[in-house]
Amino acid sequence: MPDTTLRPGEIATCNAVRADATIQFIGSIQTPWPTRDQCPRQGSVDGPECQIHLFKPWDDALDGIDAYERIEVLYWLDHSRRDLLLQSPASDGRVRGTFSLRSPVRPNPIGTSLVVLENRDGNCLTVRGLDCLNGTPLVDLKPDRCAYSPIAPPKHTTDSRQ
Ligand code: SAM
Repeated sequence: MPDTTLRPGEIATCNAVRADATIQFIGSIQTPWPTRDQCPRQGSVDGPECQIHLFKPWDDALDGIDAYERIEVLYWLDHSRRDLLLQSPASDGRVRGTFSLRSPVRPNPIGTSLVVLENRDGNCLTVRGLDCLNGTPLVDLKPDRCAYSPIAPPKHTTDSRQ
């Protein structure tokens, strides 16, 4: 269950959860972290090995993934509350809008990590770079740096030609 206490300055909405679409969980993520405070705030490729288990029939959709060293993993932060407009992260206590943070607390609590693929064994991928709780539901996998990966835009510059 999400923690619903508010820190000073935080604002929640009572109109939070309205279902416009459904997401099907396609697998489950196995990590060494049983509680949120034990998870890293962001994954690191130097972090421990974690396993991503695909449910049937989506294991067949892994065909070809071994060709990629890095994979973008999307997962559902299922223990997050979803109603905060303004939040005050425990790390610094400054109140900010939800969309200016990578906090797990968001209207649709999707987390993303770029991971290194260490191994594939059937329906199970071993990766490094995750930061989620053991048992976190898997939403999607995408290869990184294929022809259709988004490319970061150049940094803002005062040069009007860019
Ligand atoms: N890397 C992702 C991103 O940037 O979208 C997630 C970043 S979020 C700051 C990571 C934190 O979410 C972890 O430190 C942990 O406190 C929390 N968390 C991890 N798994 C969760 C889950 N299943 N439900 C709710 N919170 C979770």
